Amino acid sequence: NLLEKLKRGLRKTKESVEFGIVFRGRKVDEELFEELEELLVKADIGVKTAVALVEDLRRIALRKNIKTSEELKEVTKEKVKELLKGCEGTLNIPEDKKPAVILFLGVNGSGKTTTIGKLAYKFTSEGKKVMLVAADTFRAAAIEQLEVWAKRSGADITKKHEGADPAAVVYEGVERAIKEGHDITLIDTAGRLHTKEPLINELRKVKKVIQKLLPEEPTETLLVLDATIGQNSIQQAKVFKEAVDISGIVVTKLDGSAKGGAVIAICRELKIPIKLIGVGESIEDLQQFSTEEYVEALFD
Ligand code: GDP
Repeated sequence: NLLEKLKRGLRKTKESVEFGIVFRGRKVDEELFEELEELLVKADIGVKTAVALVEDLRRIALRKNIKTSEELKEVTKEKVKELLKGCEGTLNIPEDKKPAVILFLGVNGSGKTTTIGKLAYKFTSEGKKVMLVAADTFRAAAIEQLEVWAKRSGADITKKHEGADPAAVVYEGVERAIKEGHDITLIDTAGRLHTKEPLINELRKVKKVIQKLLPEEPTETLLVLDATIGQNSIQQAKVFKEAVDISGIVVTKLDGSAKGGAVIAICRELKIPIKLIGVGESIEDLQQFSTEEYVEALFD
C-alpha cells in the first residue's frame, strides 16, 4: 500500500534509517538529544525548528522522567504532529462545479507534468471527463509529455505549437471544456524561474484568462515542489506566491528523498496546506497527504 511505499522511500535515505537507530534501545541522555538534533537538521526540517524541537523534548523528558529511546520516539512523533498542525489539506472539487479548473505551478523538473498525469488518471478512473491544457509552450518536450499522459489516462488535451501564447492555449482549453462538458480541467504551466518577471506576468495573465470564462475558477492553484531539493523549495515557492494565490502544495519525489523533513519546513514557512504527495513515477503513485502517515513513515 501507499503508506508502505512512503515508508520505504523515506527509509532509503540514510537519515531515516538513523532515526530508527537513535530511537532503538538507547538511554535518553544528552548524546542522544544531540544526535537527534543533527539528524533532524540533515533531514532538512530547518535548523531553528530542529533546535526548538529538541529543546522541547529535553524539557519533556526531564519532566516526565522519560528513560528509554522508545518512549522518546513516541513523544517526538506527537511533537512533530503538532508542528504539522494545519498542514494537511484535501483537494476541494465541488461536484456542482463543471468544469472545475486546477492550475499547476512549479519549476521545470519538479514533477508537474507527472502529477497532472497521475491526477488525470485518478479522475478518469472515477468516470470523470478530464481536459488537460498544455500551457507550458516554452518547451516542445513539455507538450509531448503531457500528450503521453493524456493518452495514458484517457483524458483529452488542448495544445498548440511550441512558443504559442500560454494564455491563448488556456483560453481555448477552458472554452472547449465548457462546451464539451468536461468535469475537470488541469492546466500545465511553464516554470522558468530565472525569468522571474515574465513568469509572474504570464501566470497572472493565465489566471485572468481563466476568470474571464469562469469567474470563480481556478478551484485549486497547486504548487508542485520537489522534496529532493529540501528547503530550497521554499525560495521557489515565494516567487510563485508573488504571482498568484496558491491553495495547496504537492510535494513530489518523497519516495527517494533524503530531505523528507523539508515537508515540515515547507508547510510551516509557507502556511499553505499540503494536499498531495508523489511517491513514485508510475500513474498510481500519488496520494493525499496525511500528517499521521507521514510522521509514522519518517520515524518508524
Ligand atoms: P515537470 O518538468 O515539472 O513537468 O516534471 P516532470 O513531471 O517531467 O518530472 C520530472 C522527473 O521527475 C521525471 O523523470 C518524473 O518521472 C520524475 N518524478 C515526478 N514525480 C515523481 C515522484 O513522485 N517520485 C519519483 N521518484 N519521481 C518523480
